[in-house]
Amino acid sequence: MCAEKLGIGTKCVTAGYAAKNGEPRQIPIIQSTTFKYDSSSDMGKLFDLEASGYFYSRLQNPTCDTVAARIAELEGGTAAMLTGSGMAATFLALFNICSAGDHIVSSATIYGGSFNLLSVTMKRMGIDCTFISPDCTPEELDAAFKPNTKAVFGETIANPALRVLDIEKFASAAHAHGVPLVIDNTFATPVNCRPIEWGADIVVHSTTKYMDGHGVALGGCIVDSGKFDWTAHAEKYPGLCTPDESYHGITYTERFGLAGAYITKATCQLMRDLGTVQSPQNAFYLGVGLESLHVRMKRHCENAQKVAEFLAGNDKVAWVTYAGLPGNKDYELARKYLPNGSCGVVSFGVKGGRAAAEAFMGKLRIASIETHVADAHTCCLHPASSTHRQMNDDELIAAGVTPDLVRYSCGLEDADDLIADIAQALGD
Ligand SMILES: *Cc1c(COP(=O)(O)O)cnc(C)c1O
Repeated sequence: MCAEKLGIGTKCVTAGYAAKNGEPRQIPIIQSTTFKYDSSSDMGKLFDLEASGYFYSRLQNPTCDTVAARIAELEGGTAAMLTGSGMAATFLALFNICSAGDHIVSSATIYGGSFNLLSVTMKRMGIDCTFISPDCTPEELDAAFKPNTKAVFGETIANPALRVLDIEKFASAAHAHGVPLVIDNTFATPVNCRPIEWGADIVVHSTTKYMDGHGVALGGCIVDSGKFDWTAHAEKYPGLCTPDESYHGITYTERFGLAGAYITKATCQLMRDLGTVQSPQNAFYLGVGLESLHVRMKRHCENAQKVAEFLAGNDKVAWVTYAGLPGNKDYELARKYLPNGSCGVVSFGVKGGRAAAEAFMGKLRIASIETHVADAHTCCLHPASSTHRQMNDDELIAAGVTPDLVRYSCGLEDADDLIADIAQALGD
């Protein structure tokens, strides 16, 4: 049956792996650093990318490739690679097409770690970034581009600001300037939004979150849509369109076409040199997590909707941000891009500011305080004193993170219990 026609739930369970007669039902963990060959010439063909196969798990491993293929199918991409973390995915996705002297345009409302990566670490590597409000007009967005701009970056649903990105607005600006749109789809997951369908060219994930779903294993993933025509902008992307002297003079777009060039380069060049692999064991956990992603996302969203509605009606709560609440700034964007629900994370402010937020969190019994979101266990965080503490007040506000913001990630418990817990912590 054509994979395109299968529903997202069927893909969660089956994509990427079909056991043949007598083979393991579950994706096998190939826990081996290396692979054995009968002759040096057999291995030479692999190194020259003339034959496909495995030789060293820093470059590729069958378990990781199987799970990556599942995610590629879920997102509607042509190729994917797993990475050791979400941060590694974002970095490799951008560094695969940007070098010193280049420039990136990014939505300002992004994950704190990604903001740091773009504003500090990649800047030290000579790659500049202009941050722009997701509320920008098309003209303002257009004006953020420079001749050396190589990529546009944003998050489908920003962590922790929970702003919904107008993906089509960012995609059309990127394409008008001949550059790809890279979308971090961690919070929405391909169950709730597939950014490639809205014009994104590359999708990245922190698989640590909903995809794993149980707080078990760090991981990331990069998916290529295969749609961006690097060769039409060859002068911007010499790494993809001219011979790679570090890899036997291969020109990735010529050898692997648009469907494979970007991920092959990221694998053979960046993973080879930077080594931020996901372990086969972690990939296995991820593969198992993906099997129930469609069921879990529905429950996470139902819980978050009920919690958000409760908070919105409580007079000790100053404000609530959840895209599923009518009246939310991004309600219409969410209806367009996330018609089946957004995510399980709700953010809100407790009246009394920073101190009240911290006191409230200390009284919660079910929700634990964690630097984590998006798994089966409800947890909460005060970003201004943790993940975002490197930002000054102006940067916090631009990122959509006020000092009183509590990020509350609804797990898979019963909504009534979560609400009762919040009520007692608020002193109701
Ligand atoms: C957590 C997160 C990341 C970073 O992922 P790690 O797996 O922790 O490295 C990136 N983007 C978003 C949206 C995240 O929530």
